[in-house]
Formats: sequence, C-alpha cells, structure tokens
Amino acid sequence: MELNYSDRMGGIKASEIRELLKLTVRPEVISFAGGLPAPELFPVEELKKVSQKVLEEDGQSALQYSPTEGFPPLREKIAERMEKMGVKTAADNILITNGSQQGLDFSGKIFLNPDDIVIVESPSYLGAINAFKAYQCKFLEVPTDNDGMIMEKLEEALKTKENIKMIYVIPDFQNPSGRTWSLERRQKLVELANEYNLPIIEDNPYGELRFEGERLPSIKSIDTEGRVIFLGTFSKTFCPGLRIGWVCASDEVLNKYILVKQGADLQSNSMSQRELDAFLDVYDLDEHIEKIKKLYKSRRDLMLETMKEHFPKEVKFTHPEGGLFTWAVLPEHVNARELMKKSLERNVAFVPGGSFFPNGGNENTMRINYSNMPENRIVEGIKILGEVIKEELK
Ligand code: PMP
Repeated sequence: MELNYSDRMGGIKASEIRELLKLTVRPEVISFAGGLPAPELFPVEELKKVSQKVLEEDGQSALQYSPTEGFPPLREKIAERMEKMGVKTAADNILITNGSQQGLDFSGKIFLNPDDIVIVESPSYLGAINAFKAYQCKFLEVPTDNDGMIMEKLEEALKTKENIKMIYVIPDFQNPSGRTWSLERRQKLVELANEYNLPIIEDNPYGELRFEGERLPSIKSIDTEGRVIFLGTFSKTFCPGLRIGWVCASDEVLNKYILVKQGADLQSNSMSQRELDAFLDVYDLDEHIEKIKKLYKSRRDLMLETMKEHFPKEVKFTHPEGGLFTWAVLPEHVNARELMKKSLERNVAFVPGGSFFPNGGNENTMRINYSNMPENRIVEGIKILGEVIKEELK
C-alpha cells in the first residue's frame, strides 16, 4: 500500500545518525552522544513529596484541563526568573510549552512559508533544523567563531538575500559547539534585526549553567522592539521528563504562539506544571542549579584534560564556559561518521558534527557531551576515542 503523504514529508527523513544512536543506549556503551543531563541529580525524592502534596491539596484541578497559557502561578514564577536575568516581562508574556522543542516547532509554524529562509548559526541545533524543515524552509548558515555568529557575514546575507523570515540563535553554550556569543555580537544582531524587521528566536536552554566567566545579557534583554522571542526550559536546570519549557514574547507575538498551542495540544500537562510549581514553592532551584554546575564543571575539566592528553595534537576543541558540550574539529580528510562506526565497535559514542550543518559538509567535526557519564567512564571513553582517532590519522 502506498499512501499519499504531504509534500512536507518529502523533506523529513530518518537520519543515519539516529539509527547509529539507537545503539548507544546499550549499557556497555560509553555515550558522549546524547544531550542528557546527569540523572543522579534529578530531585526524585523532592518530587515524590511535592507530587503527593499536589494530589492531596489540589488533586481535582491538577488532573483537569487547564488554561492554554499555562498554570498562572508557574507563569508568574517564570516571569520573575526572567526579570532576574534582566528581561522586563510579566506573567502575561509567558506561555508554557511542552519543552522548548515545542516553541521551536511553533516558531516554524508561525513565521515560515515554503521556500522561506531561516538564518542559523553554522553549526546549529539539529532538533531546530528538523523542526523548521517540516515547514519546507531553506537554511542560510552564517559562519561562526569563538564569539558567535560573524556579524559581517550576517549583514552580507541580509543585504543580498530575499525571503529571509527569521533568525534562529543559541547564544549561550551553544548546542553543538559549546560557544557563547560576545556582548558586541548580541547588540549587533538586535540592531540588524531591527533594520531588516526580522524576528529573532533566542533558544536558551543552557544559559543558567555557567561555570566560569561573566554572565552576559540575553538577547531578549537587549531588545527594545519586542522582536526577540525567548525560548526557555527546565529540562537542563531541573529535569527534561516533565517536559516544561516556555516562550517569552511581546503581547502580540505571544498571542500567535497561544493560538497555535491550542491547535497543537490545547495545553501542557496540568500535573507536571503543578508539580514544578510546588517544587519551586518549597525548594530553592538556584541551589539545585549550583549542584548541577559543580558536577558539570568537574566533568568538563576532566574531559578536556583527558582530551588534551589523549587526542592527537591536530584535533582542536572548544573550551565551553558552561552547558553540556564540547566540539572537536578533526583534520579535514577525517570523516567523523566513519569514525563513529569504528568507535562504536569499541563501545564509545559521540555525534558526528555533519548533522548540525543543514546544508551539509563539515564531516570532520564531532559533538562530545560531558554531562551524562560518570568520571571513570569519561576517562576510559576519551582514551578509546583518542586511540580510534590516532588509528584514523595514520
Ligand atoms: N534547544 C536546544 C539548543 C537544545 O539543545 C534542546 C535540547 N537538547 C532543546 C532546545 C529542546 O529542549 P526541551 O524540549 O527539552 O526543552
């Protein structure tokens, strides 16, 4: 039987990488592939208590339908957290979503017609690329360096291309590169978006996980015209399984997101929202984030030291000041997809970087996660990876 699928499905393909990554869930595999938080820090006991409290005190409403915009006290708390990050906002400007991934999908739905162009960093987050692709868009990759997107290249693109509809960026501890944008680049981005009247999607799951260096203002906090749409999430600061993220935008823009949320799923999970809200009432999330940062910093340090010692000198990698990933660039002739097949034979996984470039190329790159594996496995895995790379360079 051959059903007639929509045109958009033509652009949506199972990736070879996804198939390889399925193998990484075997317990013997040392996986630096996923973007998974450290599960030992999930507040399981605390959640047990607050879940019970929610059910005892407010069970009927927690299991009932609730407003599309989200549970009002939680929206309030998120708005307060955004204020602390320097963004002038209010609970009315927050929509709770099913993870920030849903905010990405909605952004595509709201802004993109077929053949429209989305500007992304080169490389960019695979999940966003896939979400936008469903709206049959094209991608314009703007080159990046250690300070983020290169503004001269962005300006050139804006001057020469029509059909550009939005700019998507991950300014803090980017997935996949681990890099953070400088203040000057953030300011220039807003300036250019103002000039060309474009929305900026600021995707920021990692900003609160800074281990060193100075915190930089979010792009949303620099925006004076309401063109920056901030996507936040509790996936990396709390746990991803509750699927709670948010969109913070101006009244007019947020209304569009609320409309598409109604069509997509009516609302986010009422119980999860209340559990998180009750957790925030009783526990100090910032204290919890401190624990996460401490652990990730020590894992990052260990991983980078081990890479320095065991990777050949030709391999360059980033030194992230926060977040979950480092990014390695191999000599040009090395294909990281082939390398991954070989390292998997030795039970070590990472994500070949080519997947993060929507227009292809850059197969000599790799994304390596340091948040999820315990220390002994980090050392063992990086040593093996070093051997596999050396073999390949021979
Ligand atoms: N954006 C980026 C850059 C991410 O890395 C992720 C998760 N890996 C997401 C969005 C989606 O996160 P969630 O839906 O869990 O909030």
